[in-house]
Amino acid sequence: MKKRMTGWLLLLLCALASACLGAVASQAATPNPVATGPWNLSHDTCHAVTAIPVSENAPLPPFQCRGQPAGYQRNSLWLRVDLTPLPVDRHNLTLMLHNSRFDRLRVGFTYADGVTRWQSIGTGDFGEHWRAGGQIVFSAPHRDAELQGLVLRFDRLASYNLLRMRLMAGDESSLQATVLAMVVGGALMLLLLGAVYNLSLAVALRLQFPAWQGAWAGCMVIWGAFWSQLDLLVIPAMAGAPSAQICTVLACLAITLATFSAVTALARAHVPLALRRITLALGIGIGLLGLPLGLMREGPIDVWASILGVLTLANLLAVATCLTLAWRKGSMEARAFAGAWAVPMAVLASTQMFDTDRLLWGGGAQLMVLLAAAWQTLWLSVAATHRFARMRLERDRARQAEAQAHELARRDPLTGLPNRRGFMERAQVMLDRAQSGGTALALLLIDVDKFKAINDAHGHEAGDAVLCTLGQRLARWDGDLCAVARFGGEEFAVAVAGVSGQLLLQFADAMREAVGECYHGPTVGRVTVSIGVADMQSGCDVQSLYRRADDALYEAKRRGRDRVVMAPPRPAATPQLHLVHSA
Ligand code: GH3
Ligand code: MG
Ligand code: MG
Repeated sequence: MKKRMTGWLLLLLCALASACLGAVASQAATPNPVATGPWNLSHDTCHAVTAIPVSENAPLPPFQCRGQPAGYQRNSLWLRVDLTPLPVDRHNLTLMLHNSRFDRLRVGFTYADGVTRWQSIGTGDFGEHWRAGGQIVFSAPHRDAELQGLVLRFDRLASYNLLRMRLMAGDESSLQATVLAMVVGGALMLLLLGAVYNLSLAVALRLQFPAWQGAWAGCMVIWGAFWSQLDLLVIPAMAGAPSAQICTVLACLAITLATFSAVTALARAHVPLALRRITLALGIGIGLLGLPLGLMREGPIDVWASILGVLTLANLLAVATCLTLAWRKGSMEARAFAGAWAVPMAVLASTQMFDTDRLLWGGGAQLMVLLAAAWQTLWLSVAATHRFARMRLERDRARQAEAQAHELARRDPLTGLPNRRGFMERAQVMLDRAQSGGTALALLLIDVDKFKAINDAHGHEAGDAVLCTLGQRLARWDGDLCAVARFGGEEFAVAVAGVSGQLLLQFADAMREAVGECYHGPTVGRVTVSIGVADMQSGCDVQSLYRRADDALYEAKRRGRDRVVMAPPRPAATPQLHLVHSA
């Protein structure tokens, strides 16, 4: 247990450490051109910045191929890519861009014969160029002349550094787009199920943390729909900057919700209050920062994005600390959350450390985050189910123990017959049935004659053995119509349904004889019993039946024992006790 915990903690710490390293490394890293397709063009271009041209066919500006472009956020940023050095079939090329914030994009494919073919998209109208997976695709028109270069013109681009562009063969781009759409669809479906499941749990169990978890999964579904551009199926006007801006807000909100989900799942006793508050404050801070960052179209977006990155890492560290402390105090929830958070944290770390743009069919970091989120919600849903399965098991055990206690409380340990309590409950059921069905019911009280003398003469254990033997003999009558019990001491009770009058007296006497025939060994020999019988009167209850049977038993004793006496029909009437048999 301790080993496993240490393993998880190590994993979390490694993820955090690599995320920190990655954040630093990504600042210093320079983009590497790749030798084989797809070719990552991101920042391997010549650039120019001009005022936004009025005419569509504005002449190309002079390009410079060193340094970074500046001042483009309110202007047009031109990028030029020379394709001639690439070892590629230049008759079948496709440009894939990840959606970013800009007003308008024109892509020109330039050919060896000097012709340039332009394609363009703008905010609110991506035409046929968008793909599920957050990409915008431009296929080079097929011409006899060879493709030589690419020119891109972004109007009012928010950030050059966040641009991701890849060039690949047309066939590969369709394959990637198809696979990506399937993976995105699958992940979104998982998240949607996770959201519904967790929100249902929250309502059913009135618990806070599944509500946060459900809200988080729901937020990720909406984020995923906007990021992958699936929203354009419904509202094509959302194409471009509006979707990208909503994505930023939702991504930050998702971190806030995930933080609340983790912190509220941990018991207050398991996490110091101050740490709890710091973690929640970081979560809220990230959520709030998402709003201005989402609205920004120009200005120091990169700086704010870096601040957001640092805050996110601090938030992850705080959550990891909460989980570690709670885990060390034996919190089950901490274990479940550590497992759920490990993958998204590792993903965050790897997206910072490595160039993930080309991974997962070009889905890149966002798709990795989406899949990690699906994993997280799946894990937590399974953990919740596991927890409820254990609760059900405990409930079943408690019910079983309760049933056993119930049974024990109603059974006599010496003879194994029902005791007075168990008998009274059963007799009540039989009486109700007899009264509603208009059938007969009688109560027989059987008392061993001079039992004290047996105890006195042969010891208590011999007395016990006699009671057991008598109990076994009487138990033979027990069934649907006959309930047998040990009433206490050396007294037994039998409730008999469906027999009355003379037949009842004969039955009681047969019982007396059978019991009297039991042999209890050479020392004790045989014992006799006296039986008091009372049959059901209209409107009587079990208590009155018992009282009358007891009176009859007393009378049987008084008349000399070893006999059956029937109680008179009405308790108020003058006793007219019938002697059936005497020894
Ligand atoms: P009677 O014919 O009038 O019923 O006489 P009795 O001796 O049977 O009745 P009494 O009430 O005087 O004595 C009952 C005795 O039963 C007294 C008590 O010690 C004994 N007894 C009660 N419960 C048990 C038991 O569980 N085991 C044994 N061995 N004796 C018991
Ligand atoms: Mg007795
Ligand atoms: Mg007695």
